[in-house]
Amino acid sequence: MNQRVKPEEVIRDVFETNNSFVESRGEDYFKSHIEEQKPLITLLTCSDSRVQPNIFSEDMIDKVFVIRNIGNQLENSSGSVDYGIFHLQTPLFLVLGHVNCGAVKAFLKGYADEPESIRSELDHLHIPLGRAKGEDFNRLWLSAVEENVHWQVRIALERYGILIRRNLLAVVGAVYDFANYYGKGYGRIVIINLNGIKSREKILSHRALSLLNDSLKLKVVV
Ligand SMILES: [Zn+2]
Repeated sequence: MNQRVKPEEVIRDVFETNNSFVESRGEDYFKSHIEEQKPLITLLTCSDSRVQPNIFSEDMIDKVFVIRNIGNQLENSSGSVDYGIFHLQTPLFLVLGHVNCGAVKAFLKGYADEPESIRSELDHLHIPLGRAKGEDFNRLWLSAVEENVHWQVRIALERYGILIRRNLLAVVGAVYDFANYYGKGYGRIVIINLNGIKSREKILSHRALSLLNDSLKLKVVV
């Protein structure tokens, strides 16, 4: 948190950056997507400012249909996710949790003292604490982040199973690891679930990853 930056400074930055963006792109860039969007990815991720789609897409415009809330939860944004998958028909639904997620931490620590609006947002988190394990709090926290991703994928399987079975959709559950907790490098997106499959060997041999080269595959699967 940084309360020392004044609103006018932030507003200046927003509009100066937009001005640079406008000047760096020609009209054709915008004309190409005036009429409709054709994204390839429906992304459900946390509102956390450290997690941004530019970790996997340098230019996200017309490519990533983004749904965000605290704790990357499907149930309280199911209409938006349905829109991406049923109407925009993206071939990938990426559920992207992240390390050090404050929403998951709040769930673990208890959030009864939060305002009602925040409580009701967190109430949809379903983290089976019996399955979240760790010898210290940070391990437990990461395990709970994973369990939350698994839960969101499970809901997705119920909603979109018919598309998955026809190979029109893949659901990838992953954790954005900006702390290198998995030892695969800072900033890596680590796959922990693919269409409900959690077995590392089965994920590695899955058709959905068949176009990844072998060395990268080993870096991205937990
Ligand atoms: Zn978060």
